[in-house]
Formats: sequence, C-alpha cells, structure tokens
Amino acid sequence: MRKKIIAGNWKMNKGPDAAREFAVEMTPKVDGGAADVVFCVPYVSLLAALDAAKGTFVAIGAQNMHFEDAGAYTGEVSPGMLKELGVKYVIIGHSERRAYFGETDDIVNKKAKAALVHGLMPILCVGESLEQRNLGITIEHVRIQVKIAFDGISAVDAEKIVIAYEPIWAIGTGVTATAQQAEEACAAVRQVVAELYGQPIADKIRIQYGGSVTADNAAELFAQPNIDGGLVGGASIKADFDRIVNYQ
Ligand code: PEP
Repeated sequence: MRKKIIAGNWKMNKGPDAAREFAVEMTPKVDGGAADVVFCVPYVSLLAALDAAKGTFVAIGAQNMHFEDAGAYTGEVSPGMLKELGVKYVIIGHSERRAYFGETDDIVNKKAKAALVHGLMPILCVGESLEQRNLGITIEHVRIQVKIAFDGISAVDAEKIVIAYEPIWAIGTGVTATAQQAEEACAAVRQVVAELYGQPIADKIRIQYGGSVTADNAAELFAQPNIDGGLVGGASIKADFDRIVNYQ
C-alpha cells in the first residue's frame, strides 16, 4: 500500500515572513500522518518554513536546484546546500522551468541524479502540452520523459523518486484533467517504470497528479488506483489547503 504524498508548490509566492505565518497556521491542520505532506517554498523562505515545521511530520522542499555541487554558477543553489539546511524534497523539471528556463530532459536527468546523491527526494515532473494531447501523443511523450529522466538511476534510487504527472494545459488554468485522463497517464507512467525496473519497484513508486487540484476535485483524483496524491500549485497557498490533504 503506497502512502499518499501531497506537496504544495508555492511557486514564487511568500517571502520568509509570510511563509512562516502560513506554515505555522497550516502545519497543525495537515499533520495527521495519513499522507506525507510537503511545502515546496522559495529558496529564501526555506529556513523560515523549516523552523515553522520543526517537530511535525510536514517536510520542506525546494522548487529547483543546480546539478553541480559547487562552482561558477551565479545565482544557483546546489543540492548539498539544500541538504545542509534540512530540506527533504526538491521539485525537478517543473513545466514552468522547462518552458521559461530552458530545462531539458537531459538537465532533468542530471538534477535527479544529483539530488539522489545528496539524499534529497526528487519530485520529478512530466506532462504533455495541449498540442501533444490533441495530437494523441500524450503517452508517448510522457514515456520518453520518464525514460530520459531515469537514465542511469539504480533501482534502489528509483523508488525514492516521486513522479508528478502534470499536464501542462491543466497547470494554473483552472482546467483539471478528468480523473480518467489523469489515471490513464499515471498508469502509463507506472508501466514505463515497470519496464525499466520491474513490477515490484513500479508498485512502490509514488505518482502524483498535478494541474488545478482543488479541495473540490482532490478526492476523485486521489481515489484513482495509480494516483498517489498530488502536486498542488495555486490551491496550496490558500487557507483551505488542509481540505486537499484531508480529502477523505
Ligand atoms: C503546479 O504548479 O505544479 C501546479 C500543478 O499548479 P496548479 O495546481 O496551480 O495548477
């Protein structure tokens, strides 16, 4: 039985003060232990969020990182730096980073490997554009993204990765994939993991759905057999985020 994992992607919202305030208020409401809960906050707010969540089961994640350990990469943050702070998860390959910051499948693979080397758990995002969905190539596209992202990753490490299936057309648009569309893609993701690592690993790995998840649609989406929770953007910084975590 896979434990659900519900992660909030706060995107570029909430500096340290606002992050602390929100985390202090939200943490007790989502700390029931039925699902793993992660707040993925901006870099500058990591310390405040870590402090606010101390002593609870809520984990703190980053939204990005570089794949190198150190060096002349102005403005970047390394996996070791995140680990040193006490960060547990890191979002990798979010579609906004792929679209606006040139992240390729190859970079996503390098970042996933670097995160694992440093003991961070990647939340690795894949998903198709509307054009790809309309062309009927959703599954092929997602399969390729997963295959490249996991290239060179051992089975032991693979099962630590959380995959977030996030159709780009559903992110921040208010248009949610139907439970059937989301389940079909998540099942295909699990299938490709089975082909790469065998069924036991595929049965263990957690696959989230992301894309306009709200308190009203979470229960139906998370009830699907291959959907193990969600990566939640806009609704993760709303006062009723706890209703998504406590969807049952
Ligand atoms: C996201 O940012 O990963 C996301 C799914 O956003 P939203 O929930 O706002 O669609």
